[in-house]
Amino acid sequence: MQKMSIFDSLLDKVWQIARNEEDFLTAFARLTCDRERVAMILALPQLQDFCVTDGFSGKCETLAEELRLRGDKLNLETAASTIDPAHATAKQALELYTSAIRVAPQGSMSLARSYKGRVQVLLRTGDTDLALRDVKRALGFQLPPEDAIKLLSLAASCHQHKRAWDQAEKVLQEALDKLRNSELENNVKASMTGEIISQLKTINHEKQQDNLKQKKLKKTDSEPRSGSWGIPEVTYGKNADIPAASAALRLCFSPQKGRYMEATRNIKIGSVLIVEEPYAWALSREAMAQRCLHCCRLVPAPIPCTQCSTVSYCSEDCRDTGWQDYHRFECHVLHHLLSAKELSKMALLVYRIAVTAFARADPTSGDGNLSQKSSAHERDSTSTESDPRCDYPSSVNSPASFPFLSSDYASVHGQVTNSGSRTPADKLKRATSAFFLMKCLRHVAQDMTDDVEMTTSLLRHLQSCSCNAYQITEHVVPDGDVRNATQNELGGGAYPTVSLCNHSCNPNVARHSIGRLCIVRAIRNIRKGDEILDNYGPHFLSHDLEERQKYLETQYFFRCICEACSEKWPTADRLHEKVTGYKCIHCSMNIGLNLLNLKTCPHCKKKCDYGKIAKRLRVLAREYDRALEDLLHRRLHECLKTCVEYCDVMDSVVVHPNKGFVKCQQAVSLCWSLLGNTNATRTNLTFSL
Ligand SMILES: [Zn+2]
Ligand SMILES: [Zn+2]
Ligand SMILES: [Zn+2]
Ligand SMILES: [Zn+2]
Repeated sequence: MQKMSIFDSLLDKVWQIARNEEDFLTAFARLTCDRERVAMILALPQLQDFCVTDGFSGKCETLAEELRLRGDKLNLETAASTIDPAHATAKQALELYTSAIRVAPQGSMSLARSYKGRVQVLLRTGDTDLALRDVKRALGFQLPPEDAIKLLSLAASCHQHKRAWDQAEKVLQEALDKLRNSELENNVKASMTGEIISQLKTINHEKQQDNLKQKKLKKTDSEPRSGSWGIPEVTYGKNADIPAASAALRLCFSPQKGRYMEATRNIKIGSVLIVEEPYAWALSREAMAQRCLHCCRLVPAPIPCTQCSTVSYCSEDCRDTGWQDYHRFECHVLHHLLSAKELSKMALLVYRIAVTAFARADPTSGDGNLSQKSSAHERDSTSTESDPRCDYPSSVNSPASFPFLSSDYASVHGQVTNSGSRTPADKLKRATSAFFLMKCLRHVAQDMTDDVEMTTSLLRHLQSCSCNAYQITEHVVPDGDVRNATQNELGGGAYPTVSLCNHSCNPNVARHSIGRLCIVRAIRNIRKGDEILDNYGPHFLSHDLEERQKYLETQYFFRCICEACSEKWPTADRLHEKVTGYKCIHCSMNIGLNLLNLKTCPHCKKKCDYGKIAKRLRVLAREYDRALEDLLHRRLHECLKTCVEYCDVMDSVVVHPNKGFVKCQQAVSLCWSLLGNTNATRTNLTFSL
């Protein structure tokens, strides 16, 4: 049997106490605030000697060498074969080298050689920019001259592939110089010189041909794939009070709803309403091998942390910033957080929130201002708790102070915890988790704020994140086929601005991720004065009323009274295909099914050429079929153009719920998601050595 993780056995111990000591759970249940709960856990005699033992395994040269040699073997086989290198083999070799790089100790020869091996694979798969970066990394080591010269020759091949003839010649000249000054045997020197000269000749020949053709090919970007995200800007200009939001929104407050967002003008479907950097975020364990820990980019040739073998980065920049900002606090305890079965998947995010607050605290202010900030908000948390009626999800029961910044700890700290609605067992488990996270922090940073403060903050976030954190997602598109696209959870983040939106089972906005950013767009036309309503998971199309209410009650502690819930809208399978009626664009009253000769509303008497709208709908219905073809072929902008307009027109005149409308909405939402994080099987093997 596998050894139990430190946290799982700690929790076991606490459950035992709860079972064996009669008064313990009763007394714990009676406590009225998180600080008292924390104090009780901290005072438990059975936990006094608990500490997080290191158990940190770091790097392993033997394993690195084993992996690298397997990569080399595969590499040789593919290089020797006359058939085109199979995609799978290249991918496998790439994975072996990448794994070797991840576990190889800093500064070791096996790290340098693994980089060199990966250069060869990347060159073969045409990823020359990535290959060139690895060349640079490998050349940073004190390599034997043959290896260094071979690397320069590989670099020349990369430049050659990019038709950067001058650079190719330059590195080969460098290789020749190195060879001349080396102490290699003369026969080795002669043979290597011969190879380089012949490579130079080929390059020279290709260069002349290129000049003859006068074909100046556009140079490829030196930052491949990484700069390709089109990050949208908010529509209608930035909000001065809430910089992550559009100026078309404002933050409101009411005792019944808490904080919520409202439209200050009519908002068109498709408008970008929020673009937010998380206060803190974390990749899930599964995503750590594929994505950059710091920027969330998909990394085909990642670099590792200099100390652990768990995480990957796209670049030295991300690695160094990530280390400085948070990873130095988690590197040596990450294995404890990731191996615990009973620990919430939010634990790493919560840990990051605490370390972000700690790291951003002014070092001159003594023990950091996390505790000061927590104390300042203590009253908030107790008042929230004493009045569970006011516990609206994603909102706080007090007006915000402006500007409302995503990077301000107060924005996250103010989120509701729903403590008052949780069971004693739930709170006990969370308090134990908070205690464990505090001990992890203590293990890596002894000079932190005092134990009670820190644990109370952690407990607060363990509760608030379960109703305020958002998933970071990607769409997996197997072999580029959109029909088989599935959504995959990459991790979670704390987005204070997005959290200001309340829930509806028929939302008027849709969320998607671009890297670690959260983008919120209008998925319907929103009228001035309407509330901005997001969906927390159960949509009316996919979950029936009972399921939705149950989910929202347990997870978010409220009863939904959205239109879909109060009017008992049917789920997708029971929704009629046909339009059940049209509505007046002015007063929204039902104007029947025949629009053709209608010029005035029978209810409000206002004028509108409904015949024209009916014709437009007919044209758009035809174009919609073509738009779905566009979607299949990933012509996302073309698809969006038609679908957004179709939704727009349908939204204004069709009586909801309507199947055609929601289907079109789903196509729009899918396009937006596909413009963000995607993960397609790459099929760009175009170049062979
Ligand atoms: Zn990165
Ligand atoms: Zn690390
Ligand atoms: Zn609802
Ligand atoms: Zn009317």
